[in-house]
Amino acid sequence: MAKFDLIVLGSGSAGMSAARRARRLGASVALVEKDILGGECPNSACVPAKALLRAAESIEEVRRAHEFGICVDEPCANWSAVRRRVRGIVGSDEGESPTEERLQKQGIALFRGEGAFTSGDTIRVGSRTITAPRVIVASGSFDAVPPIEGLQDTGFINHKDALGLEKLPASMAIIGAGPVGVEFAQIFAPLGVRVTLLASGPLPLPREDHTISRLLLECLRESGVRVQTGVRVERAEKRGALKVLAVADGKQQHELEVEEIFVATGHPPFVSGMNLKGIGVESDKSGITVNDRLGTTAEHIWAAGDVTGVALYTHVASYQAKLAAHNALCEQFGLSPLQADYRVIPRVTFCRPEVASVGLTEEDCLVQELKYRAAQARFTDIERSVISGERAGLAKLLVEEGSGQVLGAHVIGARAGELIHEIAPLMQNRVPVSGIGCTIHAFPTFSEVWEAVALKLDGGANG
Ligand SMILES: Cc1cc2nc3c(=O)[nH]c(=O)nc-3n(C[C@H](O)[C@H](O)[C@H](O)COP(=O)(O)OP(=O)(O)OC[C@H]3O[C@@H](n4cnc5c(N)ncnc54)[C@H](O)[C@@H]3O)c2cc1C
Repeated sequence: MAKFDLIVLGSGSAGMSAARRARRLGASVALVEKDILGGECPNSACVPAKALLRAAESIEEVRRAHEFGICVDEPCANWSAVRRRVRGIVGSDEGESPTEERLQKQGIALFRGEGAFTSGDTIRVGSRTITAPRVIVASGSFDAVPPIEGLQDTGFINHKDALGLEKLPASMAIIGAGPVGVEFAQIFAPLGVRVTLLASGPLPLPREDHTISRLLLECLRESGVRVQTGVRVERAEKRGALKVLAVADGKQQHELEVEEIFVATGHPPFVSGMNLKGIGVESDKSGITVNDRLGTTAEHIWAAGDVTGVALYTHVASYQAKLAAHNALCEQFGLSPLQADYRVIPRVTFCRPEVASVGLTEEDCLVQELKYRAAQARFTDIERSVISGERAGLAKLLVEEGSGQVLGAHVIGARAGELIHEIAPLMQNRVPVSGIGCTIHAFPTFSEVWEAVALKLDGGANG
């Protein structure tokens, strides 16, 4: 039986980060993977989705060229060329996608197959058995399929199938208006697909600050995506070449006929088939129960990434995994354990305009009965957005009464995903908001929007 210091179950963003951190500490590591090396992010989620979005963005830029005095013919999408480029990125050596050779060079022993615990320190992978005094479970999450009558028989696709489409459908219903649904609406709509986005709540991206989600709803509609809010899909059926959804909106029901259905209704944790219960690892519907050191309810077993259900992002998966590897091995290497700190997690949805946030929303502040002040500035208040023709946008800050520390920052607009990283370090280091208002921001940059918001909070004292 092969023996290691640490076994990592799953080679996704979490598993890879855990294995690499453990190797850097000097531990011997076995990595178990039953499917594609690298997991979701580089192969079927973040990377291909963002590469597809780049194609959609590019066609929209060409369509808008006339606004800047440039004459071009109406562009059209060459779907097979788009897919080729994305496949090239997914399969390229430049990306984060790990290869067996790289793992070998890093001294990580790879075991291919589905791993299951036979005891707390032993895992069976196919016909082989490996053992280690410590194990990290990084088994990720899976695509939820909503319990809609007739959906399985009617057929549908998800983010994994998008690249496999031989041709673009003429019309598509996207069920679910979270980050994945919204991003794919804005992948397919600019490429010429008539997209209907079905949101169960009143707004898309319901977990974002509602000021931002409301503006996003306007922008989605302006960009040609039909958004139906507050709806429930009750039934699906095939009618000739078309797929028909029965959609209930309050007391009324209507039919939506489309060529394709795209399901984007969430990612529950993947906890089955590993005998987790048998070795005392508890989980509920949001994921494996972990403490602030990423330890599970079983001694010597840690968990990291989507399977913990803490926050389903690649950067959180990597953060947790490094911490889990450190904590699993700290005794062996004479280190002190580390605690997870989730106070400041930036989130980005790569729609157009981009949406990014960190910390609490105004709705969170109200529920938690916090004493706070809020201020916002429109992108039209700053020169750069006017110059760039990127007028739709808004930034909002929520600060604690008294301390002036930032509780939450929210932005929708061009480069929101970059802009949020001006605020995240302030929050991490508990710097009061006056630190932004008195900082000179280069003209003309989108970052000036934060200065504009901060000055409103300061009552214009420095303005
Ligand atoms: C369309 C889409 C777009 C996204 N875009 C972003 C983004 O832009 N930014 C961002 O931060 N996040 C994004 N995410 C989320 C991100 O992809 C996940 O948070 C991240 O991939 C989670 O990594 P993980 O290692 O926890 O899980 P995974 O990547 O799912 O890896 C888990 C691995 O474990 C393996 N495994 C499971 N069970 C076993 C077993 N018993 N034995 C062996 N192997 C096993 C699986 O095969 C898999 O390879 C996106 C998600 C989707 C769906």
